Parts: sequence; structure tokens; C-alpha cells
Amino acid sequence: MGRHPYAVVGGGPAAGAAARALAAAGADVVLLTAEDRPPYDRTVLSTEVLLHPGASVPEVWPAAADWRARIQVRTGTEVVGLDPEARTLTTAHGDSLTYATALLAPGAEPRRLSVSGSEGPSIHYLRDVADALAISHTFGRARRLVVVGGGVIGLEVAAAAAMRGVDVEVVEARARVLGRGVPAPIAAWIVALHERHGVRIRTGAAPDAVQRSPDGAVSGVRLIDGTVLPADAVVVGIGIEPREHLAHAAGLACDDGILVDASGRTSHPAVFAAGDAVRMRRTGESLGIRLESFSAAGRQGEVAAHTMLGRHDSFTDVPWWWSDQYDATLHSTGVATPNAREVLVGTPEAPLVLSLVGERLVAAGGVGHGPGIARPVRAAGRVIAAGGRVDLRELRTSGGDPASLAAAFRAAARASA
Ligand SMILES: Cc1cc2nc3c(=O)[nH]c(=O)nc-3n(C[C@H](O)[C@H](O)[C@H](O)COP(=O)(O)OP(=O)(O)OC[C@H]3O[C@@H](n4cnc5c(N)ncnc54)[C@H](O)[C@@H]3O)c2cc1C
Repeated sequence: MGRHPYAVVGGGPAAGAAARALAAAGADVVLLTAEDRPPYDRTVLSTEVLLHPGASVPEVWPAAADWRARIQVRTGTEVVGLDPEARTLTTAHGDSLTYATALLAPGAEPRRLSVSGSEGPSIHYLRDVADALAISHTFGRARRLVVVGGGVIGLEVAAAAAMRGVDVEVVEARARVLGRGVPAPIAAWIVALHERHGVRIRTGAAPDAVQRSPDGAVSGVRLIDGTVLPADAVVVGIGIEPREHLAHAAGLACDDGILVDASGRTSHPAVFAAGDAVRMRRTGESLGIRLESFSAAGRQGEVAAHTMLGRHDSFTDVPWWWSDQYDATLHSTGVATPNAREVLVGTPEAPLVLSLVGERLVAAGGVGHGPGIARPVRAAGRVIAAGGRVDLRELRTSGGDPASLAAAFRAAARASA
């Protein structure tokens, strides 16, 4: 399959942003993706596609961009082998290609539920278009759905199912939903929203078995305490695992993610990596972090591409992510550490929780109906980027609505700059 200056493996925002940055700089790129389409934005899969199976799935590249012509996209091409010394990639078709520099952006895999009966039909996971279409199809005929996992994906699926008229129960093993990175008051707001839509949320509960009728169809989920929840279908959203096997088999350093520095370098000088597959050690960090979000994946891909081109760049962004459920949007920025104290600002309709270490803002998360909460949270991200100095008294007197908070954060960011 020839020799290429730049090879990119993946079909999500990280691969897409990397190929874009390389091609926009005038380089020729070959992009290999296992899926049947060019890199796309999978964040719509748990919302629009579940609600409207015919919804279009956006590509991450603008259609008319002239640099697209420099990217040779090979869809349906899974890379199964990497030889960093020979600089070759081998595909599942048995072809191999040589590269000068490669970027790995294979994303992550949904963590599997491993209980009796959990293999087989009507147990769904959500990662790609095919998964979303299968779940959406299930919503058209299932009456009762059990969602295993009260994280972001599980709750987005629960919201879409409820809006499609399916009876939904969410089972979460921890004491509360959204236990990772979402402050308790925001999670409580989301729970109340689900309950208003008729979704039942059961915390401190874990499945022990998926029950099936003699014909193999799912009939229910038995919990560890013996309770049986009747169900025609199950969606599992219990986290993701980075796809590191290709890198690991090639001898690259991995530890719950392909290990990269803040510029996307792996342990081999000609191989870079980005996105959900990586654990990135940002400047000044001793432990790496997996960010698992759309914006971080894209920026990491871009940073790695710049480094591949010999330019200096590194990932210094304050991470942010969002989740859409019903008419509500949750936004979060920064990384809360266990020693952070939480301060609730905002209003009951649009609460915002600040995480502070000492007097320094390290993270902020908010929720509200409509997209309005995005503005104060993104502005809080600018404060974090500028060093995190906030005056809580001033924030409390700002009025508390999203627009006033956004203005107060912007002023604080300007004052720190
Ligand atoms: C349903 C859903 C909803 C989400 N919603 C949000 C949201 O609201 N907000 C947010 O911030 N984030 C959200 N995320 C997370 C966000 O989509 C991911 O963080 C992001 O897609 C990661 O990008 P990536 O490029 O690293 O990997 P991915 O997007 O997973 O792309 C990896 C690609 O590589 C391909 N691939 C894997 N292995 C190989 C191989 N060996 N050879 C060739 N190709 C390969 C895969 O098929 C896939 O196309 C959501 C994720 C999902 C699944």
C-alpha cells in the first residue's frame, strides 16, 4: 500500500483534528478507520440519533475545505499491527503500509457487563453509529428498559428512551449517579429531572444476572439483593476502556491508556497518540490523566499533529465537557481534586458548583434548562486558565443567574490576566 509521510489511525475527533492540522499545513496524510465513514462526532449518538434514527451524524471536517483533498481516507480499514521499528502498519485486510510518522487515535471501548446472561441479544452498548441505530430500533419496540450505569452515557440513554415512551429504570452501583466529576447538587438536579420524566433511578444496586425466557429474549435484570426488574432490553453504560492493545502489542508504554506527554509523544519517537485512548501527562504532572471528552480529543489530536510537523505545541487547555438530557444541559470544566471544597452558587433553576482548593478555583460544573449554563461554566474555565483567583463575595452578589455569573467570571479572568 505504499509509503506515506503521515499515517493516522482512527475515525473520531482526535484522528480528524490531527489529519486536518497535517493537511492544512500542506502535508499528505493517509487516515485508516475501522468504521464505514470519515471521522465523525459521536456525541450526537446518545441524543439526536436515539431520538430520531434518521438524524444525520456530523463529520468533523467541513465539507468544502480544500485541504481535504490531501487526506486519503480508507474507511472499513482496521489496523491490526504496528511495527514501530520498521514503521509499518498492517490492516485486517492483510495489507501493510509504511509511514514516516504515525498517530494512533483508536478511542475507547465500552466496559462490558459480566454477569450471568449478559452475553447475547438485547444487551446494548453505545459507542458507534451501528450501536446507536440498534438501540434506537430497540426503543421502537421495547416497553421496559433497564439502563445499567448512572453515568453520563447511561443517563443520556435513559432520557432518550423516556422521550421515546419507553419505561426506564436506571441501576447505579454507587451511592449516587454521576459520581465521577459531577458535584452532588448537580447530580441531584439531574435525578429530579429524570424523575419528572418518569425514569426510576436505583442507586447502591448492581445486577447479578440478566434473565432470559426459554427463547433467549431478555425478560429482566436480577439485582444482587434479589430484586428482579422486568425488562425487554438492557443498555449498559459502565465506563470505557482505552483501546491500547495495538500500542501495547507494539511495545509502546501503556498504563490504562497509551502513555503520552503533553505534546502527544508516546515512548517511540515516530509514534504519537491522542484522544480517549491516551493517558496524558500534562506539563508539571507526575500522573497522567484520561480526559474522555470531545473537545480534549480534538485538541490533543491537533497538538500531536503540530508536534509531528516539528512545531512546538502542548495541551494546556482547561478541559471541559457537556451532556444534553431532555431540554437540559450540564457543563463542566476543570478537574476537581479530592481535597477541593464545593461552593454552590447560581439559582435553583440553574445551579453552579465551584470546586476550590484554598481560594483557587480548580473546577466548575453547572446545569440548567436550555444551553444558557454553558456561558458561566466556559467563563469559569477562563478563570481557571488564568490561575483560578475568584472573589466569592463578588460572585454571590452578582445575581446568580447564568448571564450575571458569566460576566463576573469574565471580569475575574480579565483581572487575573
Ligand atoms: C454516545 C456518546 C456520547 C458522547 N457525548 C459526549 C458529550 O456530550 N460531550 C463530550 O464532551 N463528550 C462526549 N462523548 C465522548 C466523546 O465522543 C469522546 O471523548 C471522543 O469521541 C473521543 O474521540 P477519539 O477520537 O479519541 O475516539 P473515538 O471518537 O472513539 O474514535 C476512535 C475511532 O477509531 C476507530 N478505530 C479504533 N481502533 C482502530 C483500529 N485498530 N484501526 C482503525 N480504526 C480504529 C474507531 O472505530 C473509531 O472510529 C460521547 C461519547 C459517546 C460514545
